[in-house]
Amino acid sequence: FSKGLESLKDKQCVTPDNYRIPLWVNTGLMTDTVRSLDHGAEGVGLYRTEVPFMIRERFPSELAQEKIYREQLAAFAPRPVTMRSLDIGGDKSLSYFPIREDNPFLGWRGIRVTLDHPEIFLVQVRAMLKASVGLDNLRIMLPMVTGVSEVEEALHLVHRAHHEVKSEGLDVLLPPIGVMIEVPAAVYQVRDFARRVDFLSVGSNDLTQYILAVDRNNPRVADLYHSLHPAVLQALQKIVHDAHQEGKPVGICGEMAGDPAAAVLLMAMGYDVLSMNATQLLKVKWTLRSMKRSQAKAILDDVMTMDNPRIIRSTLELALRKQG
Ligand code: PEP
Ligand code: MG
Repeated sequence: FSKGLESLKDKQCVTPDNYRIPLWVNTGLMTDTVRSLDHGAEGVGLYRTEVPFMIRERFPSELAQEKIYREQLAAFAPRPVTMRSLDIGGDKSLSYFPIREDNPFLGWRGIRVTLDHPEIFLVQVRAMLKASVGLDNLRIMLPMVTGVSEVEEALHLVHRAHHEVKSEGLDVLLPPIGVMIEVPAAVYQVRDFARRVDFLSVGSNDLTQYILAVDRNNPRVADLYHSLHPAVLQALQKIVHDAHQEGKPVGICGEMAGDPAAAVLLMAMGYDVLSMNATQLLKVKWTLRSMKRSQAKAILDDVMTMDNPRIIRSTLELALRKQG
């Protein structure tokens, strides 16, 4: 990144009219962690735990996981680290745990797999809790949730793991627990989820894919994949509104949080934290530090009347260019 951007590393993300919005990072590999620290990340909004699972030949043991998680938590402490429970299925598979299905994105994915295999989930959560002893910066997040019963079952398992770790004599706090909003069903249940958990985080990669019925990895329909589609933007607005009605914070950890044009809209909507790839962090910070929230809100009002994602994109780019 350029010298100009580098000078922003230790500065807060605050708009010219003094609206503060924390910028966090998404991590998986240790290289992401190093880059994130270099770029002055304020926390981790999504640690993809499936990444260390994918680069191994078998399920890592509880002790092996504890070591991996400890390294991640220690690197960022005292800053918060949001660890997502194993999110396999769909486009992410483990060679030693093959899943073969006709429609993997509509199949056995994320929380569905781990609730069917509570032994995998319990080992993972116990390892996270043990890794957090003395650091206390852990947050746990659940992927691909479509209903309240999944949230309740997962919470029950987290409490059980916490109880087990404590009965081993470890002094470990129960971390904040959150749910990802990444399928349309979840958009309509934000208030039900928010009442049961501590925070929410939008997975806009999957949410866009499922709202628009466009495979996020299929080049043939890539032209139809628009996170700035009016239907997606309306969903994003509803999510913040409903989460805040319940007094719960809501972030976003999909790729769009790292897109400066989209970040302006998300800031205007009231998202409490934007979590992105470390490579985008300083660009987004630069953009938000030069855009008043009042101005971003005016742009949002304008964009929400539009029906064409390409025009929405070009309107935002024009506004950013005017900004310099
Ligand atoms: C998402 O779906 O937006 C997300 C952050 O999760 P992943 O990209 O790992 O599916
Ligand atoms: Mg996802």
